[in-house]
Amino acid sequence: MKRVGAHVSTKGGVENAPLNAKAIGAKAFALFTRNQRQWRAKPLEPLQIETFKANLAEAGIAPRHVLPHDSYLINLAHPETAGLEKSRAAFVDEMRRCALLGLELLNFHPGSHLRKLSESEALARVAASIDIALERVPGVTAVIETTAGQGSNLGYRFEHLAAIIDQVEDKSRVGVCIDTCHIFVAGYDLRTPAACEATFAEFDEVVGFRYLRGMHLNDSKPGLGQRVDRHASLGAGHIGWEAFRYIMRDARFDEIPMVLETPDDALWPDEIRRLYALTA
Ligand SMILES: [Zn+2]
Ligand SMILES: [Zn+2]
Repeated sequence: MKRVGAHVSTKGGVENAPLNAKAIGAKAFALFTRNQRQWRAKPLEPLQIETFKANLAEAGIAPRHVLPHDSYLINLAHPETAGLEKSRAAFVDEMRRCALLGLELLNFHPGSHLRKLSESEALARVAASIDIALERVPGVTAVIETTAGQGSNLGYRFEHLAAIIDQVEDKSRVGVCIDTCHIFVAGYDLRTPAACEATFAEFDEVVGFRYLRGMHLNDSKPGLGQRVDRHASLGAGHIGWEAFRYIMRDARFDEIPMVLETPDDALWPDEIRRLYALTA
């Protein structure tokens, strides 16, 4: 079955996220396990961890349907030693926080070469960063997100994800998250069933559906191939409902967290209800 939700608030503490998800009719969700705009993070308290797990059970959501997102400051491809070390340490800390909460996935953007490395050098650096994290923290899978391809960001071609996966040692704990807005603005069309068929066939050939561990369901304010990351509410952008109907009716997207990052959170209950209605 499909597991749809949204990237919910952790206001007042990470332990509140599962009930925020339940309140909007979600069967999956994403969250930040720490302030995503600061390097320093307060350690999780034992009571918080216990409450998070109890609330998750109360919401009826399995740990594998939760897709935590890492801090935006982390760059696992950083071209300079100091920046790379800092990013790798923060990423390991994020993985540990997921493990403490009993969660199995950590979603992240591959990183940026900052015009100081070639794409292939930077992709190799991301893979080495993932190897370090997987070795230090057992039980958590590193989930690489497709990106819009703004600036010097990596991850706007399926080939980038494949190159990273190829170089990661433990392939059982690396996966990918497709963001529909990001791939669309990166040039992969989704506007018709035929376009979805072609895009996801290409994904399967280059990366493989066996690595698909999550989705971000967003419509797009910019048009196809614009390389600008601006999410729109479902049906209010250039992608349109046909793509979401296609995804909701395709079994290759079963049992993975599919998370809205659409701009108007007041619409989330309705967007989730409408997505589930498409499966019928
Ligand atoms: Zn996303
Ligand atoms: Zn985005």
